[in-house]
Amino acid sequence: MLRRLRDVMAGVGTPQQRLDSTVQVIAHELGAEVCSIYVQRPGRVLELCATQGLNPQAVHRLFFQPGEGLVGHIAETRLPLTLAEAQKHPKFAYRPETGEEAFQSFAGVPIRRSDRVLGVLVQHVSMRELDEEEVESLETLAMVLAEVLTTMSLPGGDPNRDRGPLVIHGIRIHDGVAIGNARLHQPRVVIGGVVAEDSAVEHELLRAALADMHESLDRVMESEALSAAGEHRDVLETYRLIARDTGWIGRIRDAIDSGLTAAAAVQKVRDDTRSRMAAVKDEYLRERLADFEDVALRLLRRLAAGEPEQAPAGPDEPFILVARSMGPAELLDYAGAQLKGLVLEEASATAHVGIVARALDIPVVGRLAHLIEEVDPGDPLIVDGDHGQVLVRPGDDARAQFRESLAAREATRARYAALRDTLAVSRDGVRMSLQMNAGLLVDVTQLDSVGAEGIGLYRTEIPFLVRREYPDVDAQTELYRRILDSAGGRSVTFRTLDAGGDKRLHSFVHEVEENPALGWRALRIGLDQPAILRQQVRAMIQAAGTRPVRIMVPMVATVDEFRAARAIVDLEIARAAKRPDAMPGSISVGAMVEVPSALLAIEELAQAADFLSVGSNDLLQFLFAADRGGERTANRYDPLSVLFLDAMRRIVEAGKAAGTEVSVCGEMAGRPIEALALAALGYRTLSMSAVSIGPVKEAILSADINQLSEFILYSMKKKTGSLRNHLKSYLADHR
Ligand code: PEP
Ligand code: MG
Repeated sequence: MLRRLRDVMAGVGTPQQRLDSTVQVIAHELGAEVCSIYVQRPGRVLELCATQGLNPQAVHRLFFQPGEGLVGHIAETRLPLTLAEAQKHPKFAYRPETGEEAFQSFAGVPIRRSDRVLGVLVQHVSMRELDEEEVESLETLAMVLAEVLTTMSLPGGDPNRDRGPLVIHGIRIHDGVAIGNARLHQPRVVIGGVVAEDSAVEHELLRAALADMHESLDRVMESEALSAAGEHRDVLETYRLIARDTGWIGRIRDAIDSGLTAAAAVQKVRDDTRSRMAAVKDEYLRERLADFEDVALRLLRRLAAGEPEQAPAGPDEPFILVARSMGPAELLDYAGAQLKGLVLEEASATAHVGIVARALDIPVVGRLAHLIEEVDPGDPLIVDGDHGQVLVRPGDDARAQFRESLAAREATRARYAALRDTLAVSRDGVRMSLQMNAGLLVDVTQLDSVGAEGIGLYRTEIPFLVRREYPDVDAQTELYRRILDSAGGRSVTFRTLDAGGDKRLHSFVHEVEENPALGWRALRIGLDQPAILRQQVRAMIQAAGTRPVRIMVPMVATVDEFRAARAIVDLEIARAAKRPDAMPGSISVGAMVEVPSALLAIEELAQAADFLSVGSNDLLQFLFAADRGGERTANRYDPLSVLFLDAMRRIVEAGKAAGTEVSVCGEMAGRPIEALALAALGYRTLSMSAVSIGPVKEAILSADINQLSEFILYSMKKKTGSLRNHLKSYLADHR
């Protein structure tokens, strides 16, 4: 039947005549009263182009807007739909011009070629329900249709050529603006024929391609240059398992038996898996789906007759990466001067990709509907991270406007870069130490370019987040050594694992908790499972060699907790002391101040710790009981409120009294006005993201900190609520 259908479609007659014959053949073969083909037009409008069973007058006159009716719904979701009673579906839209009968059982499938929806194929029957097998057949037929549709010059023009400008709105993952040409993370593979001439030949092709893929995966696994090639051992291990999964291979074989070529069979099974998993929200399962997709793509490349659609981009061409979804490790593989931005169709797991995006300082926008479908490789794109949108094939006006905004940003950047070697000393001679927060090796490369004096917060959980497996002591030692080496003698403060809460590690079993932010996390894990903390400390000591080590523990709630952590560190110091030749010059152990209970015992904590660093992000969240990541809560309470500033003042004064160094490493430290307020309260060390160093330094250079200090302390006594506006006008008057 597949072959007959293909022959009809590719045979004689005008395209319209051939489409008409096609619906007749399908309706006849499937025993359906109605069979219709809708073709997607520009703007994703669906047009009825051929029908058997509906009123022929409706052909080329019946349209569904994107998402409208069952047909629009299928094209939007790209998923097949089967209904016993079509009318009961909330999306059902009755169109009298079709002459459609009531109470029909309905099945519709998207007609897809590569990643693009070309249209929708629909079948209706009355008096009985459609079964799964019939829908499967319909899907297979849709594949044949897709192949032929792309080669036909359809009445009304080709919807896929000459596509104009388009703006897609999504969610902001990292801000900034970038212009460049699209590069697809997963190049599209356009398979050649869909209908097999001889199934035995196709089975053999599949066998050979699988054997070839197994062999090449084994080869890469054995090679030394794993991550240099952008590959990761744990990911490849998963691929190896999938590539031998008998269930998956069995489904591909069944599809070949139904008459498809090996390549079409792989694609069909991939599409089926995608459809079945579409509703899955669980992040872990979604990642497994991505693994299956990757393996299917590797197999498809081996089987596809045609070349991948993407022309290889020149190494010097700036590009915007376009992906359905992306993990942090994969994004790191693209890091380089030419990667300008990232746009994602899905939004799952964006938190981790966001961390890498921040380190690379590229704009990222997620949850962009139909992105993969709308963008062709090489299409010009503008990523507007500030407004969470992407402009696809922008017109000249939009380009000019964004170029201007890019140029302005560049000028500001150049102004900050010029301050790189200037010390952060205020007009009245107050010397501030501006350090940076880091979590990845790419962050550390920015130490020099922004002129940071050290790493005030190295978040050790971040390298754990971007990996799938838990790094052992050797892997951690190697990592910390590289950080210290790159810092070239500047001070590095390693924070022990701050896992849990919003930072769930793949390699770690986290129980489901009702309140993860208040749950079993950070130091609590370290104290309950000291081996984890000891391994980290051991790796830090080994990595340091004879250099000094600064270890900081997160989420300290009580002084006893801090002492317990210190006792664990002491065990490792004792262990290391057995090899005194490699003993660090000094080991200091500090506490983060980010839990309100620590604030209430701050004088004692300042005595117990070698240094303190305020995690203002969490401190604000817990003091005001307001989720730092929540849309309605994150900016509800101002760190410049008298209440919060007073808490910050108490901490710095406790530090002074105890002779203990105190710094701030939360986001607050990286905002110019807040940074000035902290300096005025007495803080002398601030640690912030690399991009904030320039703006904060500029603010400090032009400020009189002692005068500001008087002003703030006086205002804190006289006022309540936020001092932000008050401070702003003061600073405007004292430029
Ligand atoms: C903080 O809480 O302010 C902090 C610096 O740590 P993190 O943002 O990693 O929780
Ligand atoms: Mg914190």
